[in-house]
Amino acid sequence: SLTIGIVGLPNVGKSTLFNALTKNDVLAANYPFATIEPNVGVVGVPDPRLDTLAEIFSSQRKLPATVDFVDIAGIVRGASEGEGLGNKFLANIRESDAICQVIRAFQDENVVHVDGKVSPKDDIETINTELILADLQSIEKALPRLTKESRLQKDKVHVVAAAEAAQKILEEGRTLFSAGITRNTEQGQLLHELHLLTTKPFLYVFNVDEDELVDESFKDAQRALVAPAEAIFLNAKIESELIELSDDEALELLQSMGQEEPGLATLARVGFETLGLQTYLTAGPKESRAWTIKKGATAPEAAGVIHTDFQKGFIKAEVISFDDLVATGSVADARAAGKARMEGKDYVMQDGDVVEFRFNV
Ligand code: GDP
Repeated sequence: SLTIGIVGLPNVGKSTLFNALTKNDVLAANYPFATIEPNVGVVGVPDPRLDTLAEIFSSQRKLPATVDFVDIAGIVRGASEGEGLGNKFLANIRESDAICQVIRAFQDENVVHVDGKVSPKDDIETINTELILADLQSIEKALPRLTKESRLQKDKVHVVAAAEAAQKILEEGRTLFSAGITRNTEQGQLLHELHLLTTKPFLYVFNVDEDELVDESFKDAQRALVAPAEAIFLNAKIESELIELSDDEALELLQSMGQEEPGLATLARVGFETLGLQTYLTAGPKESRAWTIKKGATAPEAAGVIHTDFQKGFIKAEVISFDDLVATGSVADARAAGKARMEGKDYVMQDGDVVEFRFNV
């Protein structure tokens, strides 16, 4: 499954946040015998639709979609100089599908800042600089080979051009993601074989003091720093306290801080979105469940997420949109109202589809 790597300077609250993420581990709760790497936190994506479905179908349990966060501990500064630890650090980022930077914005005299002062802008620049330098090295190393290959393989001409264009952007101190070059774009695809870091989608967690959680002008200023990436504001210490509380107590604490949901919930939702993922829903007396697919997945591909045999033997999918199901009250009523659609193998799944697959075994 796709993973989000968590990076940041020392003492910004990464461990505090990651511990909260792992305690919130839905995998541990739902699959007690699953083995999980110690540096991976599997977090449920909050989805109130599952509560509704579980009520309609009297489901015994609810299984949300999940996002995997990987704690990429280690050095940031000097990583691109490629000494042992730096290499390992960059290799771990290379394996992630998205990069989540934790940025310190909280003030606390007892917690030393590695650069002596709290400055989100400088911290973001420090981290991005290492990633940019690493990408520049990858490109510089590959260009002579690519240029040579392009003399015989005409399609490589486009790769060379894309690499040179990327080099220019990086030399200006910009990440490729911020310049709109991601793995989903044509340019990004051409660069695929270079395994660059800054074409991955970015997302930023600002670890802020309680006051700043509701300080809209402060938050807007940070958002502007990281656009087009998403910014999430939370207090890692409070998050680690929230998970120890009962639902009611947690809600009360959140409301006292003017928050609608825990920061971890927002992080899971935005992280899921950043990875380019989407869900569809299944429901029955055993469970109501959200399944993870890539945006744009077809019905057979969606069926394959449940079981490869479902994809191989796919006949059709009976699809009812969540809203129609809720409005009519049951599958039978939705069918009677003409709201149940039979979709074939070319159907592109839509968010909120409640599905039952028909297949040959
Ligand atoms: P890491 O080095 O980035 O993993 O940072 P840690 O999670 O170990 O946190 C470093 C120190 O900052 C610890 O003493 C934490 O208790 C403290 N800390 C983490 N988050 C917050 C926060 O939101 N507010 C305050 N005041 N301290 C925090």
